[in-house]
Amino acid sequence: MPKKTKLVNSKGIRTDGRKIDELRPVKLEVGILSNADGSAYIEQGKNKILAAVYGPGEVHPRHLALPDRALLRCRYHMAPFSVQERKSPAPSRREVELSKVIREALQPAIFLERFPRTSIELFIEVLQADGGTRCAGVTVASLALADAGIPMRDLVVACAAGKADGHIVVDLNDIEDKEGEADVPVAYMPNFDAVSLLQMDGILTIEEFEQAISLALDGCRKIYALQKEALKAKYQAIKEEVEGAEEE
Ligand code: UDP
Repeated sequence: MPKKTKLVNSKGIRTDGRKIDELRPVKLEVGILSNADGSAYIEQGKNKILAAVYGPGEVHPRHLALPDRALLRCRYHMAPFSVQERKSPAPSRREVELSKVIREALQPAIFLERFPRTSIELFIEVLQADGGTRCAGVTVASLALADAGIPMRDLVVACAAGKADGHIVVDLNDIEDKEGEADVPVAYMPNFDAVSLLQMDGILTIEEFEQAISLALDGCRKIYALQKEALKAKYQAIKEEVEGAEEE
């Protein structure tokens, strides 16, 4: 059997130098694509993910249109060069599953009922993956939806926690995800204190599970603050541009 990596050392430090309750550095940018109705970009550790939104618009094929609300469509896709071993560009079972769970995590936050018979299309492109892409995908997608001006009850933010070398840790990286004992991704709407995605891979005791949820929610609250800053930054830049033009 291959030798297992030491994921947390005797000082409680992880493979990438983080403490057990420390998030990876998160960088968020809103409105970076000119052709989509809304877009956003996230770097979380080594993850690099783009999200783009079109809509609300016409539904094709038309028979899929819903009489009382918009149809939310979501495609999570990993670029062939996003992982160490070239990934086929065709959608894998995993990508089909993640497209579904991400859609379901975002759906409760959107006022879909305001746009009957239309569709809102969401594209999530993973350019570089390092564990926790479904969570980073939810975080960046909700910013792209907000950027497209789609009315929402709250932003949705996601973060995972799990178990590595017997420690409950937050925001697992790729090696912790693969070699750790458990992974619990959580998506959260902080204003409603409501969870819209909860999955678990591996085995935890009830106490460990509660600790993991609590760490994941703390992580979500920290990333939520960054999401709001990223949204404001876009409008601040527009405001400064307009004021600059007026002065000329
Ligand atoms: N991964 C990979 N090749 C694949 C799919 C996944 O190397 O075809 C890696 C990738 O780094 C991903 C990690 O495995 O982030 C964990 O995948 P998982 O299904 O747990 O989803 P995630 O943690 O990204 O939400």
